[in-house]
Amino acid sequence: MGSKFVITVVDQEEAKATQYVQMAISEIKRIERVISSWDSNSETHQININAGIQPVKVSNELFQLIKRSIQISKITDGAFDISYASMDKIWKFDGSMQQMPSSEAIKKSIAKIGFQNIVLDEATRTVFLKKKGMKIGFGAIGKGYAADMAKTLLVSKGAKSGVINASGDLISWGTKENGSPWKVGIVNPFNKEKIFSWFKLDDRAVVTSGNYEKFVVFNGKKYTHIIDPRSGYPVTGIHSVTIVAPKAELADALSTSVFVMGKETGLYLIDQLKGIECLIVDDKGKLWKSSGLKTKNNE
Ligand code: ADP
Ligand code: MG
Repeated sequence: MGSKFVITVVDQEEAKATQYVQMAISEIKRIERVISSWDSNSETHQININAGIQPVKVSNELFQLIKRSIQISKITDGAFDISYASMDKIWKFDGSMQQMPSSEAIKKSIAKIGFQNIVLDEATRTVFLKKKGMKIGFGAIGKGYAADMAKTLLVSKGAKSGVINASGDLISWGTKENGSPWKVGIVNPFNKEKIFSWFKLDDRAVVTSGNYEKFVVFNGKKYTHIIDPRSGYPVTGIHSVTIVAPKAELADALSTSVFVMGKETGLYLIDQLKGIECLIVDDKGKLWKSSGLKTKNNE
């Protein structure tokens, strides 16, 4: 998936724990073969190359993932959109950009994006991308999905406790060996030695979307690598978004969504979703929290 996974399992027997870790790795690899858009054997690739041509029959697993992705597009007003992958790559965040793209180029870059043009047919279990050149990608939800699936598998096989860390998308179950809860610290991005706040994981997922390295500056304004699929402009003003939710998949998707929606609209959405909380660090290092968020500063 182009990202690093760290798997921790607690068991009395080391060999057993290692077996569980192997099971998780196989499961994550299996999912990658379904959702990867660059693997030419993946179902996702088949959907993409048939855009504007014909519907493609897919596994129930992928069908449901796409269906859930579209639901997230609906509740986020299109801030989250798996068809973001159709965007022309006019922004470069590797230092090579000299000037801002023209507004025409920006407008044109998003012409093929639009979750409304992803057609799902339940009866035939097919997916059709209406526009030629349209593409879908699971960059903002796949890691979370894989983490949830790995956890579910290990729990069903009897693993009592563990943590799946998908490049910062965390989900756990059970407790540490000594009985204390798994915790995660959110680091102050402007002072890496300092932990802003601690979250107890308690069977929940904690996912952070951050723009620590990839950005470009024009006229003193920092444009980060997450692009609003509705406008074609990169997001400004937010440094990181952390979401706490029952599932890593939803937390993953919502962290990207809130990034795109911005502080006010993003927090407004999160405050309406039961059991989901959010912590935003803005580009000045200020913290913004959803109304139900409980964190501990010194634990
Ligand atoms: P991180 O890489 O920090 O985990 P995210 O979870 O926020 O970041 O995912 C960012 C990735 O999501 C991008 O690299 C891209 O593949 C995809 N993406 C970017 N913008 C959107 C969007 N608006 N909707 C859906 N996916 C997106
Ligand atoms: Mg995400």
